[in-house]
Amino acid sequence: MNILIVYAHPEPTSLNASLRDFSVQRLQAAGHSVQVSDLYAMQWKATVDSGDNLAHEPGTPFHISPESKYAFENGLQSPDIAAEQAKLMWADAVLFQFPLWWFSMPAIMKGWFDRVYAYGFAYGVGEHSDRRWGDRYGEGKLAGKRAMLIVTTGGWEQHYGPRGINGPINDLLFPIQHGMLYYPGFDVLPPFVEYRVRAMDEARFAEVSGRLGERLDTLATATPIAFRKQNFGDYLIPSMELHPEVAPGQTGFAAHIA
Ligand SMILES: Cc1cc2nc3c(=O)[nH]c(=O)nc-3n(C[C@H](O)[C@H](O)[C@H](O)COP(=O)(O)OP(=O)(O)OC[C@H]3O[C@@H](n4cnc5c(N)ncnc54)[C@H](O)[C@@H]3O)c2cc1C
Repeated sequence: MNILIVYAHPEPTSLNASLRDFSVQRLQAAGHSVQVSDLYAMQWKATVDSGDNLAHEPGTPFHISPESKYAFENGLQSPDIAAEQAKLMWADAVLFQFPLWWFSMPAIMKGWFDRVYAYGFAYGVGEHSDRRWGDRYGEGKLAGKRAMLIVTTGGWEQHYGPRGINGPINDLLFPIQHGMLYYPGFDVLPPFVEYRVRAMDEARFAEVSGRLGERLDTLATATPIAFRKQNFGDYLIPSMELHPEVAPGQTGFAAHIA
């Protein structure tokens, strides 16, 4: 497979860097082709601005979505955006690796999504009408590709358990896994989350990388999270609410998983 790792950590000697290096070696040893977008090392520009559309007229208002669409459709995107989109189209699977910062991804990675996920590429794809609300949530340009999060936390596993004070990890990751990965079409594999990583030594690192290695070995075969598809009857169109007969009485994130 072709595998892209989108990686966000500023420190080359960090635990995350060691885990990334481990992943690259493991995947290459298994015969996969690997590319890494190391966002800090690339000095990735995290903020959307008018420079993202090479055709933007200086001094005129910057209309973000229409300009994103125009630049995407006319080959006028900033080259760094186009290069990341090309990597996504090349990849069969994409790993997003980051330390959990304030219950989400580091800002530099959020800025990668803000900029790379152009109008016409990740959203605004397909027919939008009263009968059909675009190709998203199970369809889209990235359909057929797999994605998985690799996340480290300072907090304990129990803190992220069903009744833990931080909230369940799957709830915290829902906006990323459902909103940012499933939305443009990825099949999203269960995340690899390593908790309480400050307490790390060589023995634990060997154990953690063993478990991570098993997840990497099964990237092509693991069962994705069963997020419900948008256009196949589970949702009413155009209200986009779950059909009354689907998961009756259930609300919240879990209702969107079959
Ligand atoms: C801005 C910010 C916000 C945060 N928000 C949250 C939050 O919302 N929730 C939460 O739970 N946590 C939070 N944290 C904690 C954060 O998630 C952890 O600090 C992070 O996951 C640790 O990953 P790291 O790669 O930086 O680890 P490092 O600090 O680099 O390393 C962790 C430990 O692993 C050891 N280590 C490193 N490499 C190896 C190796 N090769 N072999 C063996 N041991 C090794 C190090 O010596 C260290 O003891 C936050 C931290 C910051 C800075």
